[in-house]
Amino acid sequence: MTANPPTSLSLLGLGAMGSALARTWLAAGHPLTVWNRTPARADSLAALGAKTSDTAAGAVAANTLVVLCLLDDDSVGAALDGVDLTGRDLVNLTTTTPAQARARAAWAEERGARYLDGGIMAVPPMIGVPEAGGYVLYSGSAELFAAHGATLAVPAGTTYVGADAGFAALHDVALLSAMYGMFAGAAHAFALIRREAVDPVAFAPLLADWLTAMSGSVHGTAARLRSGEYTGGVVSPLAMQVAGTPTFLATAEEQGVSPELLAPYFGLMRRRLAEGSGEEDLTGVVDLLLRESP
Ligand code: NDP
Repeated sequence: MTANPPTSLSLLGLGAMGSALARTWLAAGHPLTVWNRTPARADSLAALGAKTSDTAAGAVAANTLVVLCLLDDDSVGAALDGVDLTGRDLVNLTTTTPAQARARAAWAEERGARYLDGGIMAVPPMIGVPEAGGYVLYSGSAELFAAHGATLAVPAGTTYVGADAGFAALHDVALLSAMYGMFAGAAHAFALIRREAVDPVAFAPLLADWLTAMSGSVHGTAARLRSGEYTGGVVSPLAMQVAGTPTFLATAEEQGVSPELLAPYFGLMRRRLAEGSGEEDLTGVVDLLLRESP
């Protein structure tokens, strides 16, 4: 019995990310056809064995599995304008909003293609380096994911998050939004020590360990959101935490640091407390962020 030969595929988009993806498929022996708007970017991949197509239509026609890694949703529309997608399996790794992903899925299905959307949780140097921990979130056609999961797993790990084509983008942006909140907190912390005789390099491990220790709190928040019970087993009640916020703001003032990153979150905590939720933890802030209708 012989193993199946590596799947042949096409890739549209050879920017920093697309080129990194292409190199891993070529290194793993997958026959690869590439197209890029600016043709010269395909030269180094041709030298590694990629077939090049002068047109997006040619690259799409070359293989059933077609991966897109373009700048944004508009560039996907521009690249595939008028291209016959009948019978193609489109995997769109271009970063978009959830609504753009859903619209693009419907657009592709109207044109006779199966559609899978992807959100890349990695930077190019992590592609093809399994120990780097990068992965791609996928959502959309479960059949397409089942058929091509092994090929898609070559550049980075794969995590399928549901049949709704918008879910990969939704998860992607949710995770990155939390990351920016963490970056904001770290920026404030470094600003507090910036003018003191505190070595930022010595401070960093304390900060990283603390963020790691606190990150587990998301599981408690998730359980409360699921149950709707925000008060049971609370260790640090909102009222106590709000009472502590003047210390944080006064310390920022003493250190000559703007509270502009911290203050909005404290404002939400105070609003929730004013609603009579002092026995809760911080979960209620999630609900305060929800607008009446999206
Ligand atoms: P680059 O800016 O390096 O490349 C952009 C690609 O899009 C190029 O191939 C460019 O072609 C093409 N492109 C832009 N506009 C058009 C258009 N109108 N028609 C056709 N092609 C077009 O971006 P990356 O490769 O870094 O990113 C690609 C996708 O991957 C993005 O959606 C990005 O958000 C996502 N991503 C990137 C990460 C990163 O760290 N780089 C991390 C996670 C996701 P040309 O060469 O002709 O300009």
